[in-house]
Order: sequence, then C-alpha cells, then structure tokens
Amino acid sequence: MTKKETKKTKNSSSEFSKDLISIESCNVSRGEDLRRIRSAFLNIFEDVEEARNIAVREKNKTMLIIENLDDGLFVLDKNSKIEIVNSYALEFLQKAKDEIIQKNIFKIKSEKVDLKIFFEVIGGKNKKIKEVSREEVCFGNKLFFQVSVLSIAGSGGEYLVILHDISKDKLIDQMKTEFVSVAAHQLRTPLSAIKWTLKMMLDGDVGKLTEEQIEFLNKSYESNERMIMLVNDLLNVSRIDEGRFIYKPEALQIEDVIKEISMSEETSLKKKKLKLLLNIPKKKLPPVFIDKEKMGIVMQNFIENSIKYTPSGGKITISVEDLKDDILVKIKDTGVGIPLDQQDRIFTKFFRGENVIRLETEGSGLGLYTVKNIIESHTGKVWFQSEENKGSTFFFTLPKAGQN
Ligand code: ADP
Repeated sequence: MTKKETKKTKNSSSEFSKDLISIESCNVSRGEDLRRIRSAFLNIFEDVEEARNIAVREKNKTMLIIENLDDGLFVLDKNSKIEIVNSYALEFLQKAKDEIIQKNIFKIKSEKVDLKIFFEVIGGKNKKIKEVSREEVCFGNKLFFQVSVLSIAGSGGEYLVILHDISKDKLIDQMKTEFVSVAAHQLRTPLSAIKWTLKMMLDGDVGKLTEEQIEFLNKSYESNERMIMLVNDLLNVSRIDEGRFIYKPEALQIEDVIKEISMSEETSLKKKKLKLLLNIPKKKLPPVFIDKEKMGIVMQNFIENSIKYTPSGGKITISVEDLKDDILVKIKDTGVGIPLDQQDRIFTKFFRGENVIRLETEGSGLGLYTVKNIIESHTGKVWFQSEENKGSTFFFTLPKAGQN
C-alpha cells in the first residue's frame, strides 16, 4: 500500500466511524423523539378521557336537574322532534317516554289533554316553533300553565319548551279578587246609610245645627264620599278581574262624553284655579262604538287626575283628532308629572307615584288600571308622555264605529 493509499484508507475509516456515531446519535434522538411523542399522546389521551368524564358527569347532573324540575321541559330539534323530555312533561301529556321520544311534537295525539291550544301557543297556525314566546294558557277549567319557548343559541335550530304550572297563583288571585269584591259589597250598604244620615242632618231635617256642628258634619260627609269612591273603584277592579265588567256599546260621539264630564268637573277646576281648554274639531267627528258609562269613567279619571296633580294656576287641554281608522284623544296638563323611574308601573293596580304621595294627594291607585282595561276592551290603545315638574299627556285611541 502506498503512503497515499494508506492515508486514504485511514481517512475513510475515520469518516466511517464518524457516520456510525452520527447514525447512532440519530437513532438515540429518534428514540427520544418517539418517547416524547408517545408521552405527549398519552397526555392527550388522559386529557381527553378527563374531559369525557367531566362531560359525562355534567350531562348526568343536567339530566338529573331536568328530570327533577318542577316544570315540564321539552328539547326539540330543528324538525320539532322531541330530543329530551322530563317526567313532568310526560305527566302533562299523560304519555310514556318511548311513545313520544324522537317524534314530532305536533304529531302527538291525546284523548286526555286538549293539545290544540298547546300547539297553537308553541307553533302558531302553521305549526312552526316560535323563536321566543311566553303565554299563559288555560287547559280545562282550573289548569293554568305559563308556556315559554326559547331558541337554544348556537344549537343550529334547537328549541326549549317550558311548561310552568301557575294554577295555584291563579287560584290565589281569584280568591283575593273574590275577597275584595265581597268586602266592597259589604261596605257599600253601611256607607250609603252614613251618607244619607249625614245629608239629613246637614239639610236641617233633625233640627238647627251650630256652625261648628255643620263644619264637623261636612268633614265627615267628605270623608264618607271618599270611602264610597274607593269602594266603587274596588268593585270595578274586582269586576274587571273576574271578567264581569259588562259593556253595552253603541255608536256615539266621543266629544259628547268629553264635554259632559268636563262640565261636571267645573267646580273642582274653579276651586283649584285651573283652566280647561277643549280642542275639538268643528266638523262633526265619526262616531265610535263605546259604552257611554264606562267611557265616562275613563274621561273622569283622566280629568280628575290632571286636576289633582296640577298645581293652582295650571292648564289642562283636551284635544280630539280624527285619524285614518281611529279617533285620538289627548289629555295634557302642566302638572307635577310622573318620575321617570316609575313610569313603567303607571297602569298597574294600586300604583301611586312617590311625588304625588309626598304631596299628600288623595287616591287609590286604581283609576288608571281601570281606564286601561276599559280602553283595551274597546279595542283601543292608551299611553302617555310625562316629565317630572313639567306635566303629563295621556293619549288614547278608539276605533271608529265599523272598524272593530
Ligand atoms: P290615583 O287614585 O292615585 O290618582 P290612578 O290610577 O288614577 O290613581 O293614577 C295612578 C298614579 O299615576 C297616580 O297616583 C299618580 O302618581 C300618577 N298619575 C296619573 N295621572 C297623572 C297626572 N296627570 N299627572 C301626574 N301623575 C299622574
């Protein structure tokens, strides 16, 4: 072997051993990588398993809650098929779970429950589940439910239908109304007797009275009148709540009712130094189909409120406008107004604004509740605008006769 060849062999053997070392180190690092990958996979599997266990636990928890809810619950898929139903809902339908699960809710038939009204509430006429709704439904005589439909966000068209039994609340409401009605009826007779006795004494039928006696009797008479008014308000409200507020509508001119009631309030207006302006079109207005006595209650409440809640020297304006299908009535005053944070309670029973309570004005908080019921029973609408210390305007519409 020449020197050159020996050198070459030496060189190639050293290169070979270098290669061997690099393969070996490559094998070592690949093995290390595999070990790391394996351990990473194991970690992922462990995490997935853990997540799966958590999901199963959460699902069991949710199902237990759903199953034991005091409300009936259905989960419907996008084709209205029942995916989940709880025991309460099954009891309501009087069905076994396997009879209805995965069935279209609108195809369920029952001889025991009238489902027509239930389907109407959740799906309307075309039996397509409503996006969101909440309605009170009466099944039979005494079974009341609040039926809510909610669309489940991000579910691709799934819905939740909840049935909440409100029969007990309704029964309590009914008992309260009956109690108020009986109490008011019982109070009416003695209050009338007191009224007439006081009137006879004031008229001098039982002998001449001193100035002081007359003053005391006048105060008693006024207090008794306020009690009679309160009892009448309570009777009206209980009649409304029991659906016994009878209407005898006829085609009449609303301006006649407005003029009549305005005239009857002349003394109170003078006493408080208030100006009343009537803004009624000269041209005869189309008639409205109304119960005269009930519409009188409406106008009396609006005008008396404006008188009560407008300081001396103020102005009340009543305007009537002929709209396309309706007659619009506005009662505007320059009074104390209604505090903004209490405006959403204005038509609720027994509500009285904090500002008017502070002013020690008399009132039951039943007038506007009655007014709203009367106007809506005439298929009209009522609303208001008010600013504290500036004044209020109450608006109502009534459909022209022949429109409703
Ligand atoms: P009340 O017997 O207290 O007048 P209403 O039901 O007629 O009962 O009215 C309810 C409440 O609405 C009143 O107590 C008062 O706070 C407010 N309100 C009604 N009308 C007016 C008005 N014209 N100006 C200011 N507040 C009013």
